[in-house]
Amino acid sequence: MRTPIIAGNWKMNKNPQETQEFLEAIKGKLPESGVEAIIGAPAIDLNALTWFSKDEPLKTAAENCYFEDAGAFTGETSPKALSDMGLDYVIIGHSERRQYFAETDEDINKKAHAILKNNMLPIICCGETLEQRESGKAEEWVTGQIENAVKGISDDDLAKSVVAYEPIWAIGTGKTATADQAQEMVHVIREKIASLYDADTADKVRILYGGSVKPANVKELMSKEDIDGGLVGGASMDPESFLALANFQK
Ligand code: PEP
Repeated sequence: MRTPIIAGNWKMNKNPQETQEFLEAIKGKLPESGVEAIIGAPAIDLNALTWFSKDEPLKTAAENCYFEDAGAFTGETSPKALSDMGLDYVIIGHSERRQYFAETDEDINKKAHAILKNNMLPIICCGETLEQRESGKAEEWVTGQIENAVKGISDDDLAKSVVAYEPIWAIGTGKTATADQAQEMVHVIREKIASLYDADTADKVRILYGGSVKPANVKELMSKEDIDGGLVGGASMDPESFLALANFQK
């Protein structure tokens, strides 16, 4: 049984004051069991999140990190420091990082190793452009991204990790992939993992869908066999909307 995940991704939004206000609004209202609620926040907000998560059923995620633990890397965030601070997850390979910060599959693979070595778990993002989908290349592209991201990761580590399928044409556009389209690709990803590892590992890894997930469509997406949760941008910013998503089973 895979525990469902609702993971917010605030992107470069919210300052520490706004973070505090958000946390006060969700205090005592997250599900105690059955769903893992995660918030991915900018580095400057993470301290508040990790303090909050000591008493509340919230897991925490950084939105990026570097692949070295320490050194002369001005402006980067150390995975070891994130782990020391109590972070649970790090989102890697988000399409915005690939597009605007030239993050490559090789970087993402190095980051995945660094995150696991530091006892956190990666949320590995993948997804195709509209052009790739329309030209029939989406599956090949997405499974290639996954194959490159997981190189050298053990089956035990991968089984605990999270993958997020986020078609680029559905991120922040209000255009959601249909639940069937999302299920189809998430299933292809699970089959790819089974071929790279084994059926047991593929059965354990949690695969999320991301792309305009909101309270109105979360139930239908979550009803699909292979979809284990949502990575949510816009709709995770407002406390009421995040709570509605996290409590989708109620
Ligand atoms: C995201 O940021 O990963 C995302 C899916 O954004 P949105 O939910 O706003 O489409």
